[in-house]
Amino acid sequence: MDEYDIAVAGGGPVGCFVTEQLASKGRHVAVFEEHRTIGEPVHCAGLVTQRVFDITKCSQIGLVQNKIYGAHIHSPAGATLTIGGETVHGLVINRKRFDETLFQNAHSAGVSLFTGYKVVSAKKQENHITLTIQKDEQTLTVRCNILIGADGPYSSIRKIFGFPHPIEMLQGIGAELSDTALDPRFVHIFVGRIVAPGFFAWIIPTNVHGTTARIGLCIGKQSNHPLQHYFTALLQQPLLQGTNVMKRFGGVIPLGPLKKTVDDHVMLVGDAAAQVKPTSGGGIYPGLFCAAQCAIVAEESLQKQQFDVQFLKHYHRKWTKEIGRELFLGMRFRKMFTSLTDEQLVKYLEKLNNQKTIDVINTHGDIDYPSRLALPLIRTSPSLLSLAPAMLKRTKK
Ligand SMILES: Cc1cc2nc3c(=O)[nH]c(=O)nc-3n(C[C@H](O)[C@H](O)[C@H](O)COP(=O)(O)OP(=O)(O)OC[C@H]3O[C@@H](n4cnc5c(N)ncnc54)[C@H](O)[C@@H]3O)c2cc1C
Repeated sequence: MDEYDIAVAGGGPVGCFVTEQLASKGRHVAVFEEHRTIGEPVHCAGLVTQRVFDITKCSQIGLVQNKIYGAHIHSPAGATLTIGGETVHGLVINRKRFDETLFQNAHSAGVSLFTGYKVVSAKKQENHITLTIQKDEQTLTVRCNILIGADGPYSSIRKIFGFPHPIEMLQGIGAELSDTALDPRFVHIFVGRIVAPGFFAWIIPTNVHGTTARIGLCIGKQSNHPLQHYFTALLQQPLLQGTNVMKRFGGVIPLGPLKKTVDDHVMLVGDAAAQVKPTSGGGIYPGLFCAAQCAIVAEESLQKQQFDVQFLKHYHRKWTKEIGRELFLGMRFRKMFTSLTDEQLVKYLEKLNNQKTIDVINTHGDIDYPSRLALPLIRTSPSLLSLAPAMLKRTKK
């Protein structure tokens, strides 16, 4: 039986990054990824911020396809609110290459990487965890001191150890398009119940000429039609006339960060812990941020040989203190957003559509920390306070 200090279920960006951090401290670490090819299938629009590169120390070369300066937000009434335009707010990445790079970095740090290996069960035993792993017809058994569940939105580790579930699972669909004629510096966001009930639709230019794009949308549980219905409608947008669908993708986004992310010998991170921004569905930055915290606490735990839930709780406290507030506030904002009718949405977007407010958005807006915009925005447009009661109500669970 193979033995490791740490075993990680899931070779996505978060799983690879957390193991790289631990292996670079000399720990004996393994990642088990069920797919044979890293980074596939892609379930992502690939819009991130510079912080993702700051955390991972990856070079942008070969990974960043385009830089985003601003957004055109289209209201259900057809009006457009344009924000940004002066500085870079987002980076469009080649997600497959990004995952491959983190995998390579983990490999270089000494991580044992197993692709085509699915974790099928896990059991706590005296002072360790035993994992059962399936590779084709073969079954392997592995022992570790700590098991990290970085196995994505449908995490098996989360289920096996009885962790709470995310509050919501958004259904997403998307495609890579060619033959677009877009301003490469701007993304387009479409909101409203007809376009993408419970979330939004997007068009993201993926090259500096604006001739290719990644489009998509997510819907919440209150939608009247299947995803494909909304996707077909998105393709009818005048902006997308004459374009070609090259490749489709889909996926789910877990929302509502878990109130419990550790147990004896077990830690959850990334989508497995629903560490995702509820306002944008972006999970790469918060997942990597939490992975760094997870690696610090796992390392301390190995140094002290303390693997109990009380010790591992340091990780839960760390990530909730640093970024959890932003994610929990995001859920409150989401609750308010999903309660708005299209008429109300139109009204609020109209309120925002004046130069003074747009200047505030441009100064304080931050894709990773949208709550930082709330106070400056309310100071400028006090009438937006009418949104507050819905936000202040606690999100259940
Ligand atoms: C439509 C859509 C668009 C998105 N757009 C963006 C965006 O623009 N920006 C952004 O920041 N985020 C975006 N996200 C979210 C982002 O893709 C995720 O937050 C991110 O992939 C989370 O990384 P992860 O490593 O935690 O999980 P994942 O990337 O899901 O990786 C988990 C890995 O675990 C493996 N696995 C699962 N079960 C097992 C098992 N039992 N054994 C072994 N391996 C297992 C899976 O195969 C997978 O490779 C989007 C998501 C969707 C669905």
